[in-house]
Amino acid sequence: MKIVVTSLVEGENPFHFDSQKESWLKELLSDLSKEGYQFKSPLVVNAHLTKIEPDFYLRGKLKFSVEQSCARCAENFILNVNSPFEVTLANVPSGKLSSSKITEESKELDINFFEGNEIDLNPIITEQFFLSIPYQSLCKPDCLGICQQCGANLNTKMCQCAEKKSVTPFSVLQEVKLFKQE
Ligand SMILES: [Zn+2]
Ligand SMILES: [Zn+2]
Repeated sequence: MKIVVTSLVEGENPFHFDSQKESWLKELLSDLSKEGYQFKSPLVVNAHLTKIEPDFYLRGKLKFSVEQSCARCAENFILNVNSPFEVTLANVPSGKLSSSKITEESKELDINFFEGNEIDLNPIITEQFFLSIPYQSLCKPDCLGICQQCGANLNTKMCQCAEKKSVTPFSVLQEVKLFKQE
């Protein structure tokens, strides 16, 4: 999806994209699905592109649901994402986009550069998608994980291992006492 910047008005230009309606977003979703992401909802982008010459600012929200595997208990669950993003877009003269200086600046200043009159939304939305997924997804913030010994999911049952291994201040004291007596 390419936005022609000359067609934008000064100030805010609102956008609403839904993968159920927009073919480019549907394709983006299908590309991500091929990488292993199982979507449980359409991908929705609500954003506005603000033109403040000579630069542009894209601010908005990315909304979708995707199946994830919990980093602690390994159970699959649905991650609901509604993530805000903000991208600064700076125009560079034609043919300068591939120069190493521009690439370096882009990384350092967190700016996306675009060439000519068009802003390509696909790489921006793809990048924001990856940024919006936590590095370690948890099925719930207090997920208890799995027992290292018997592999039981501690969210659904308490195994015996936990009882045997439980360390109370008292048991620690006992061990210290025993050590001193020797
Ligand atoms: Zn979990
Ligand atoms: Zn166990």
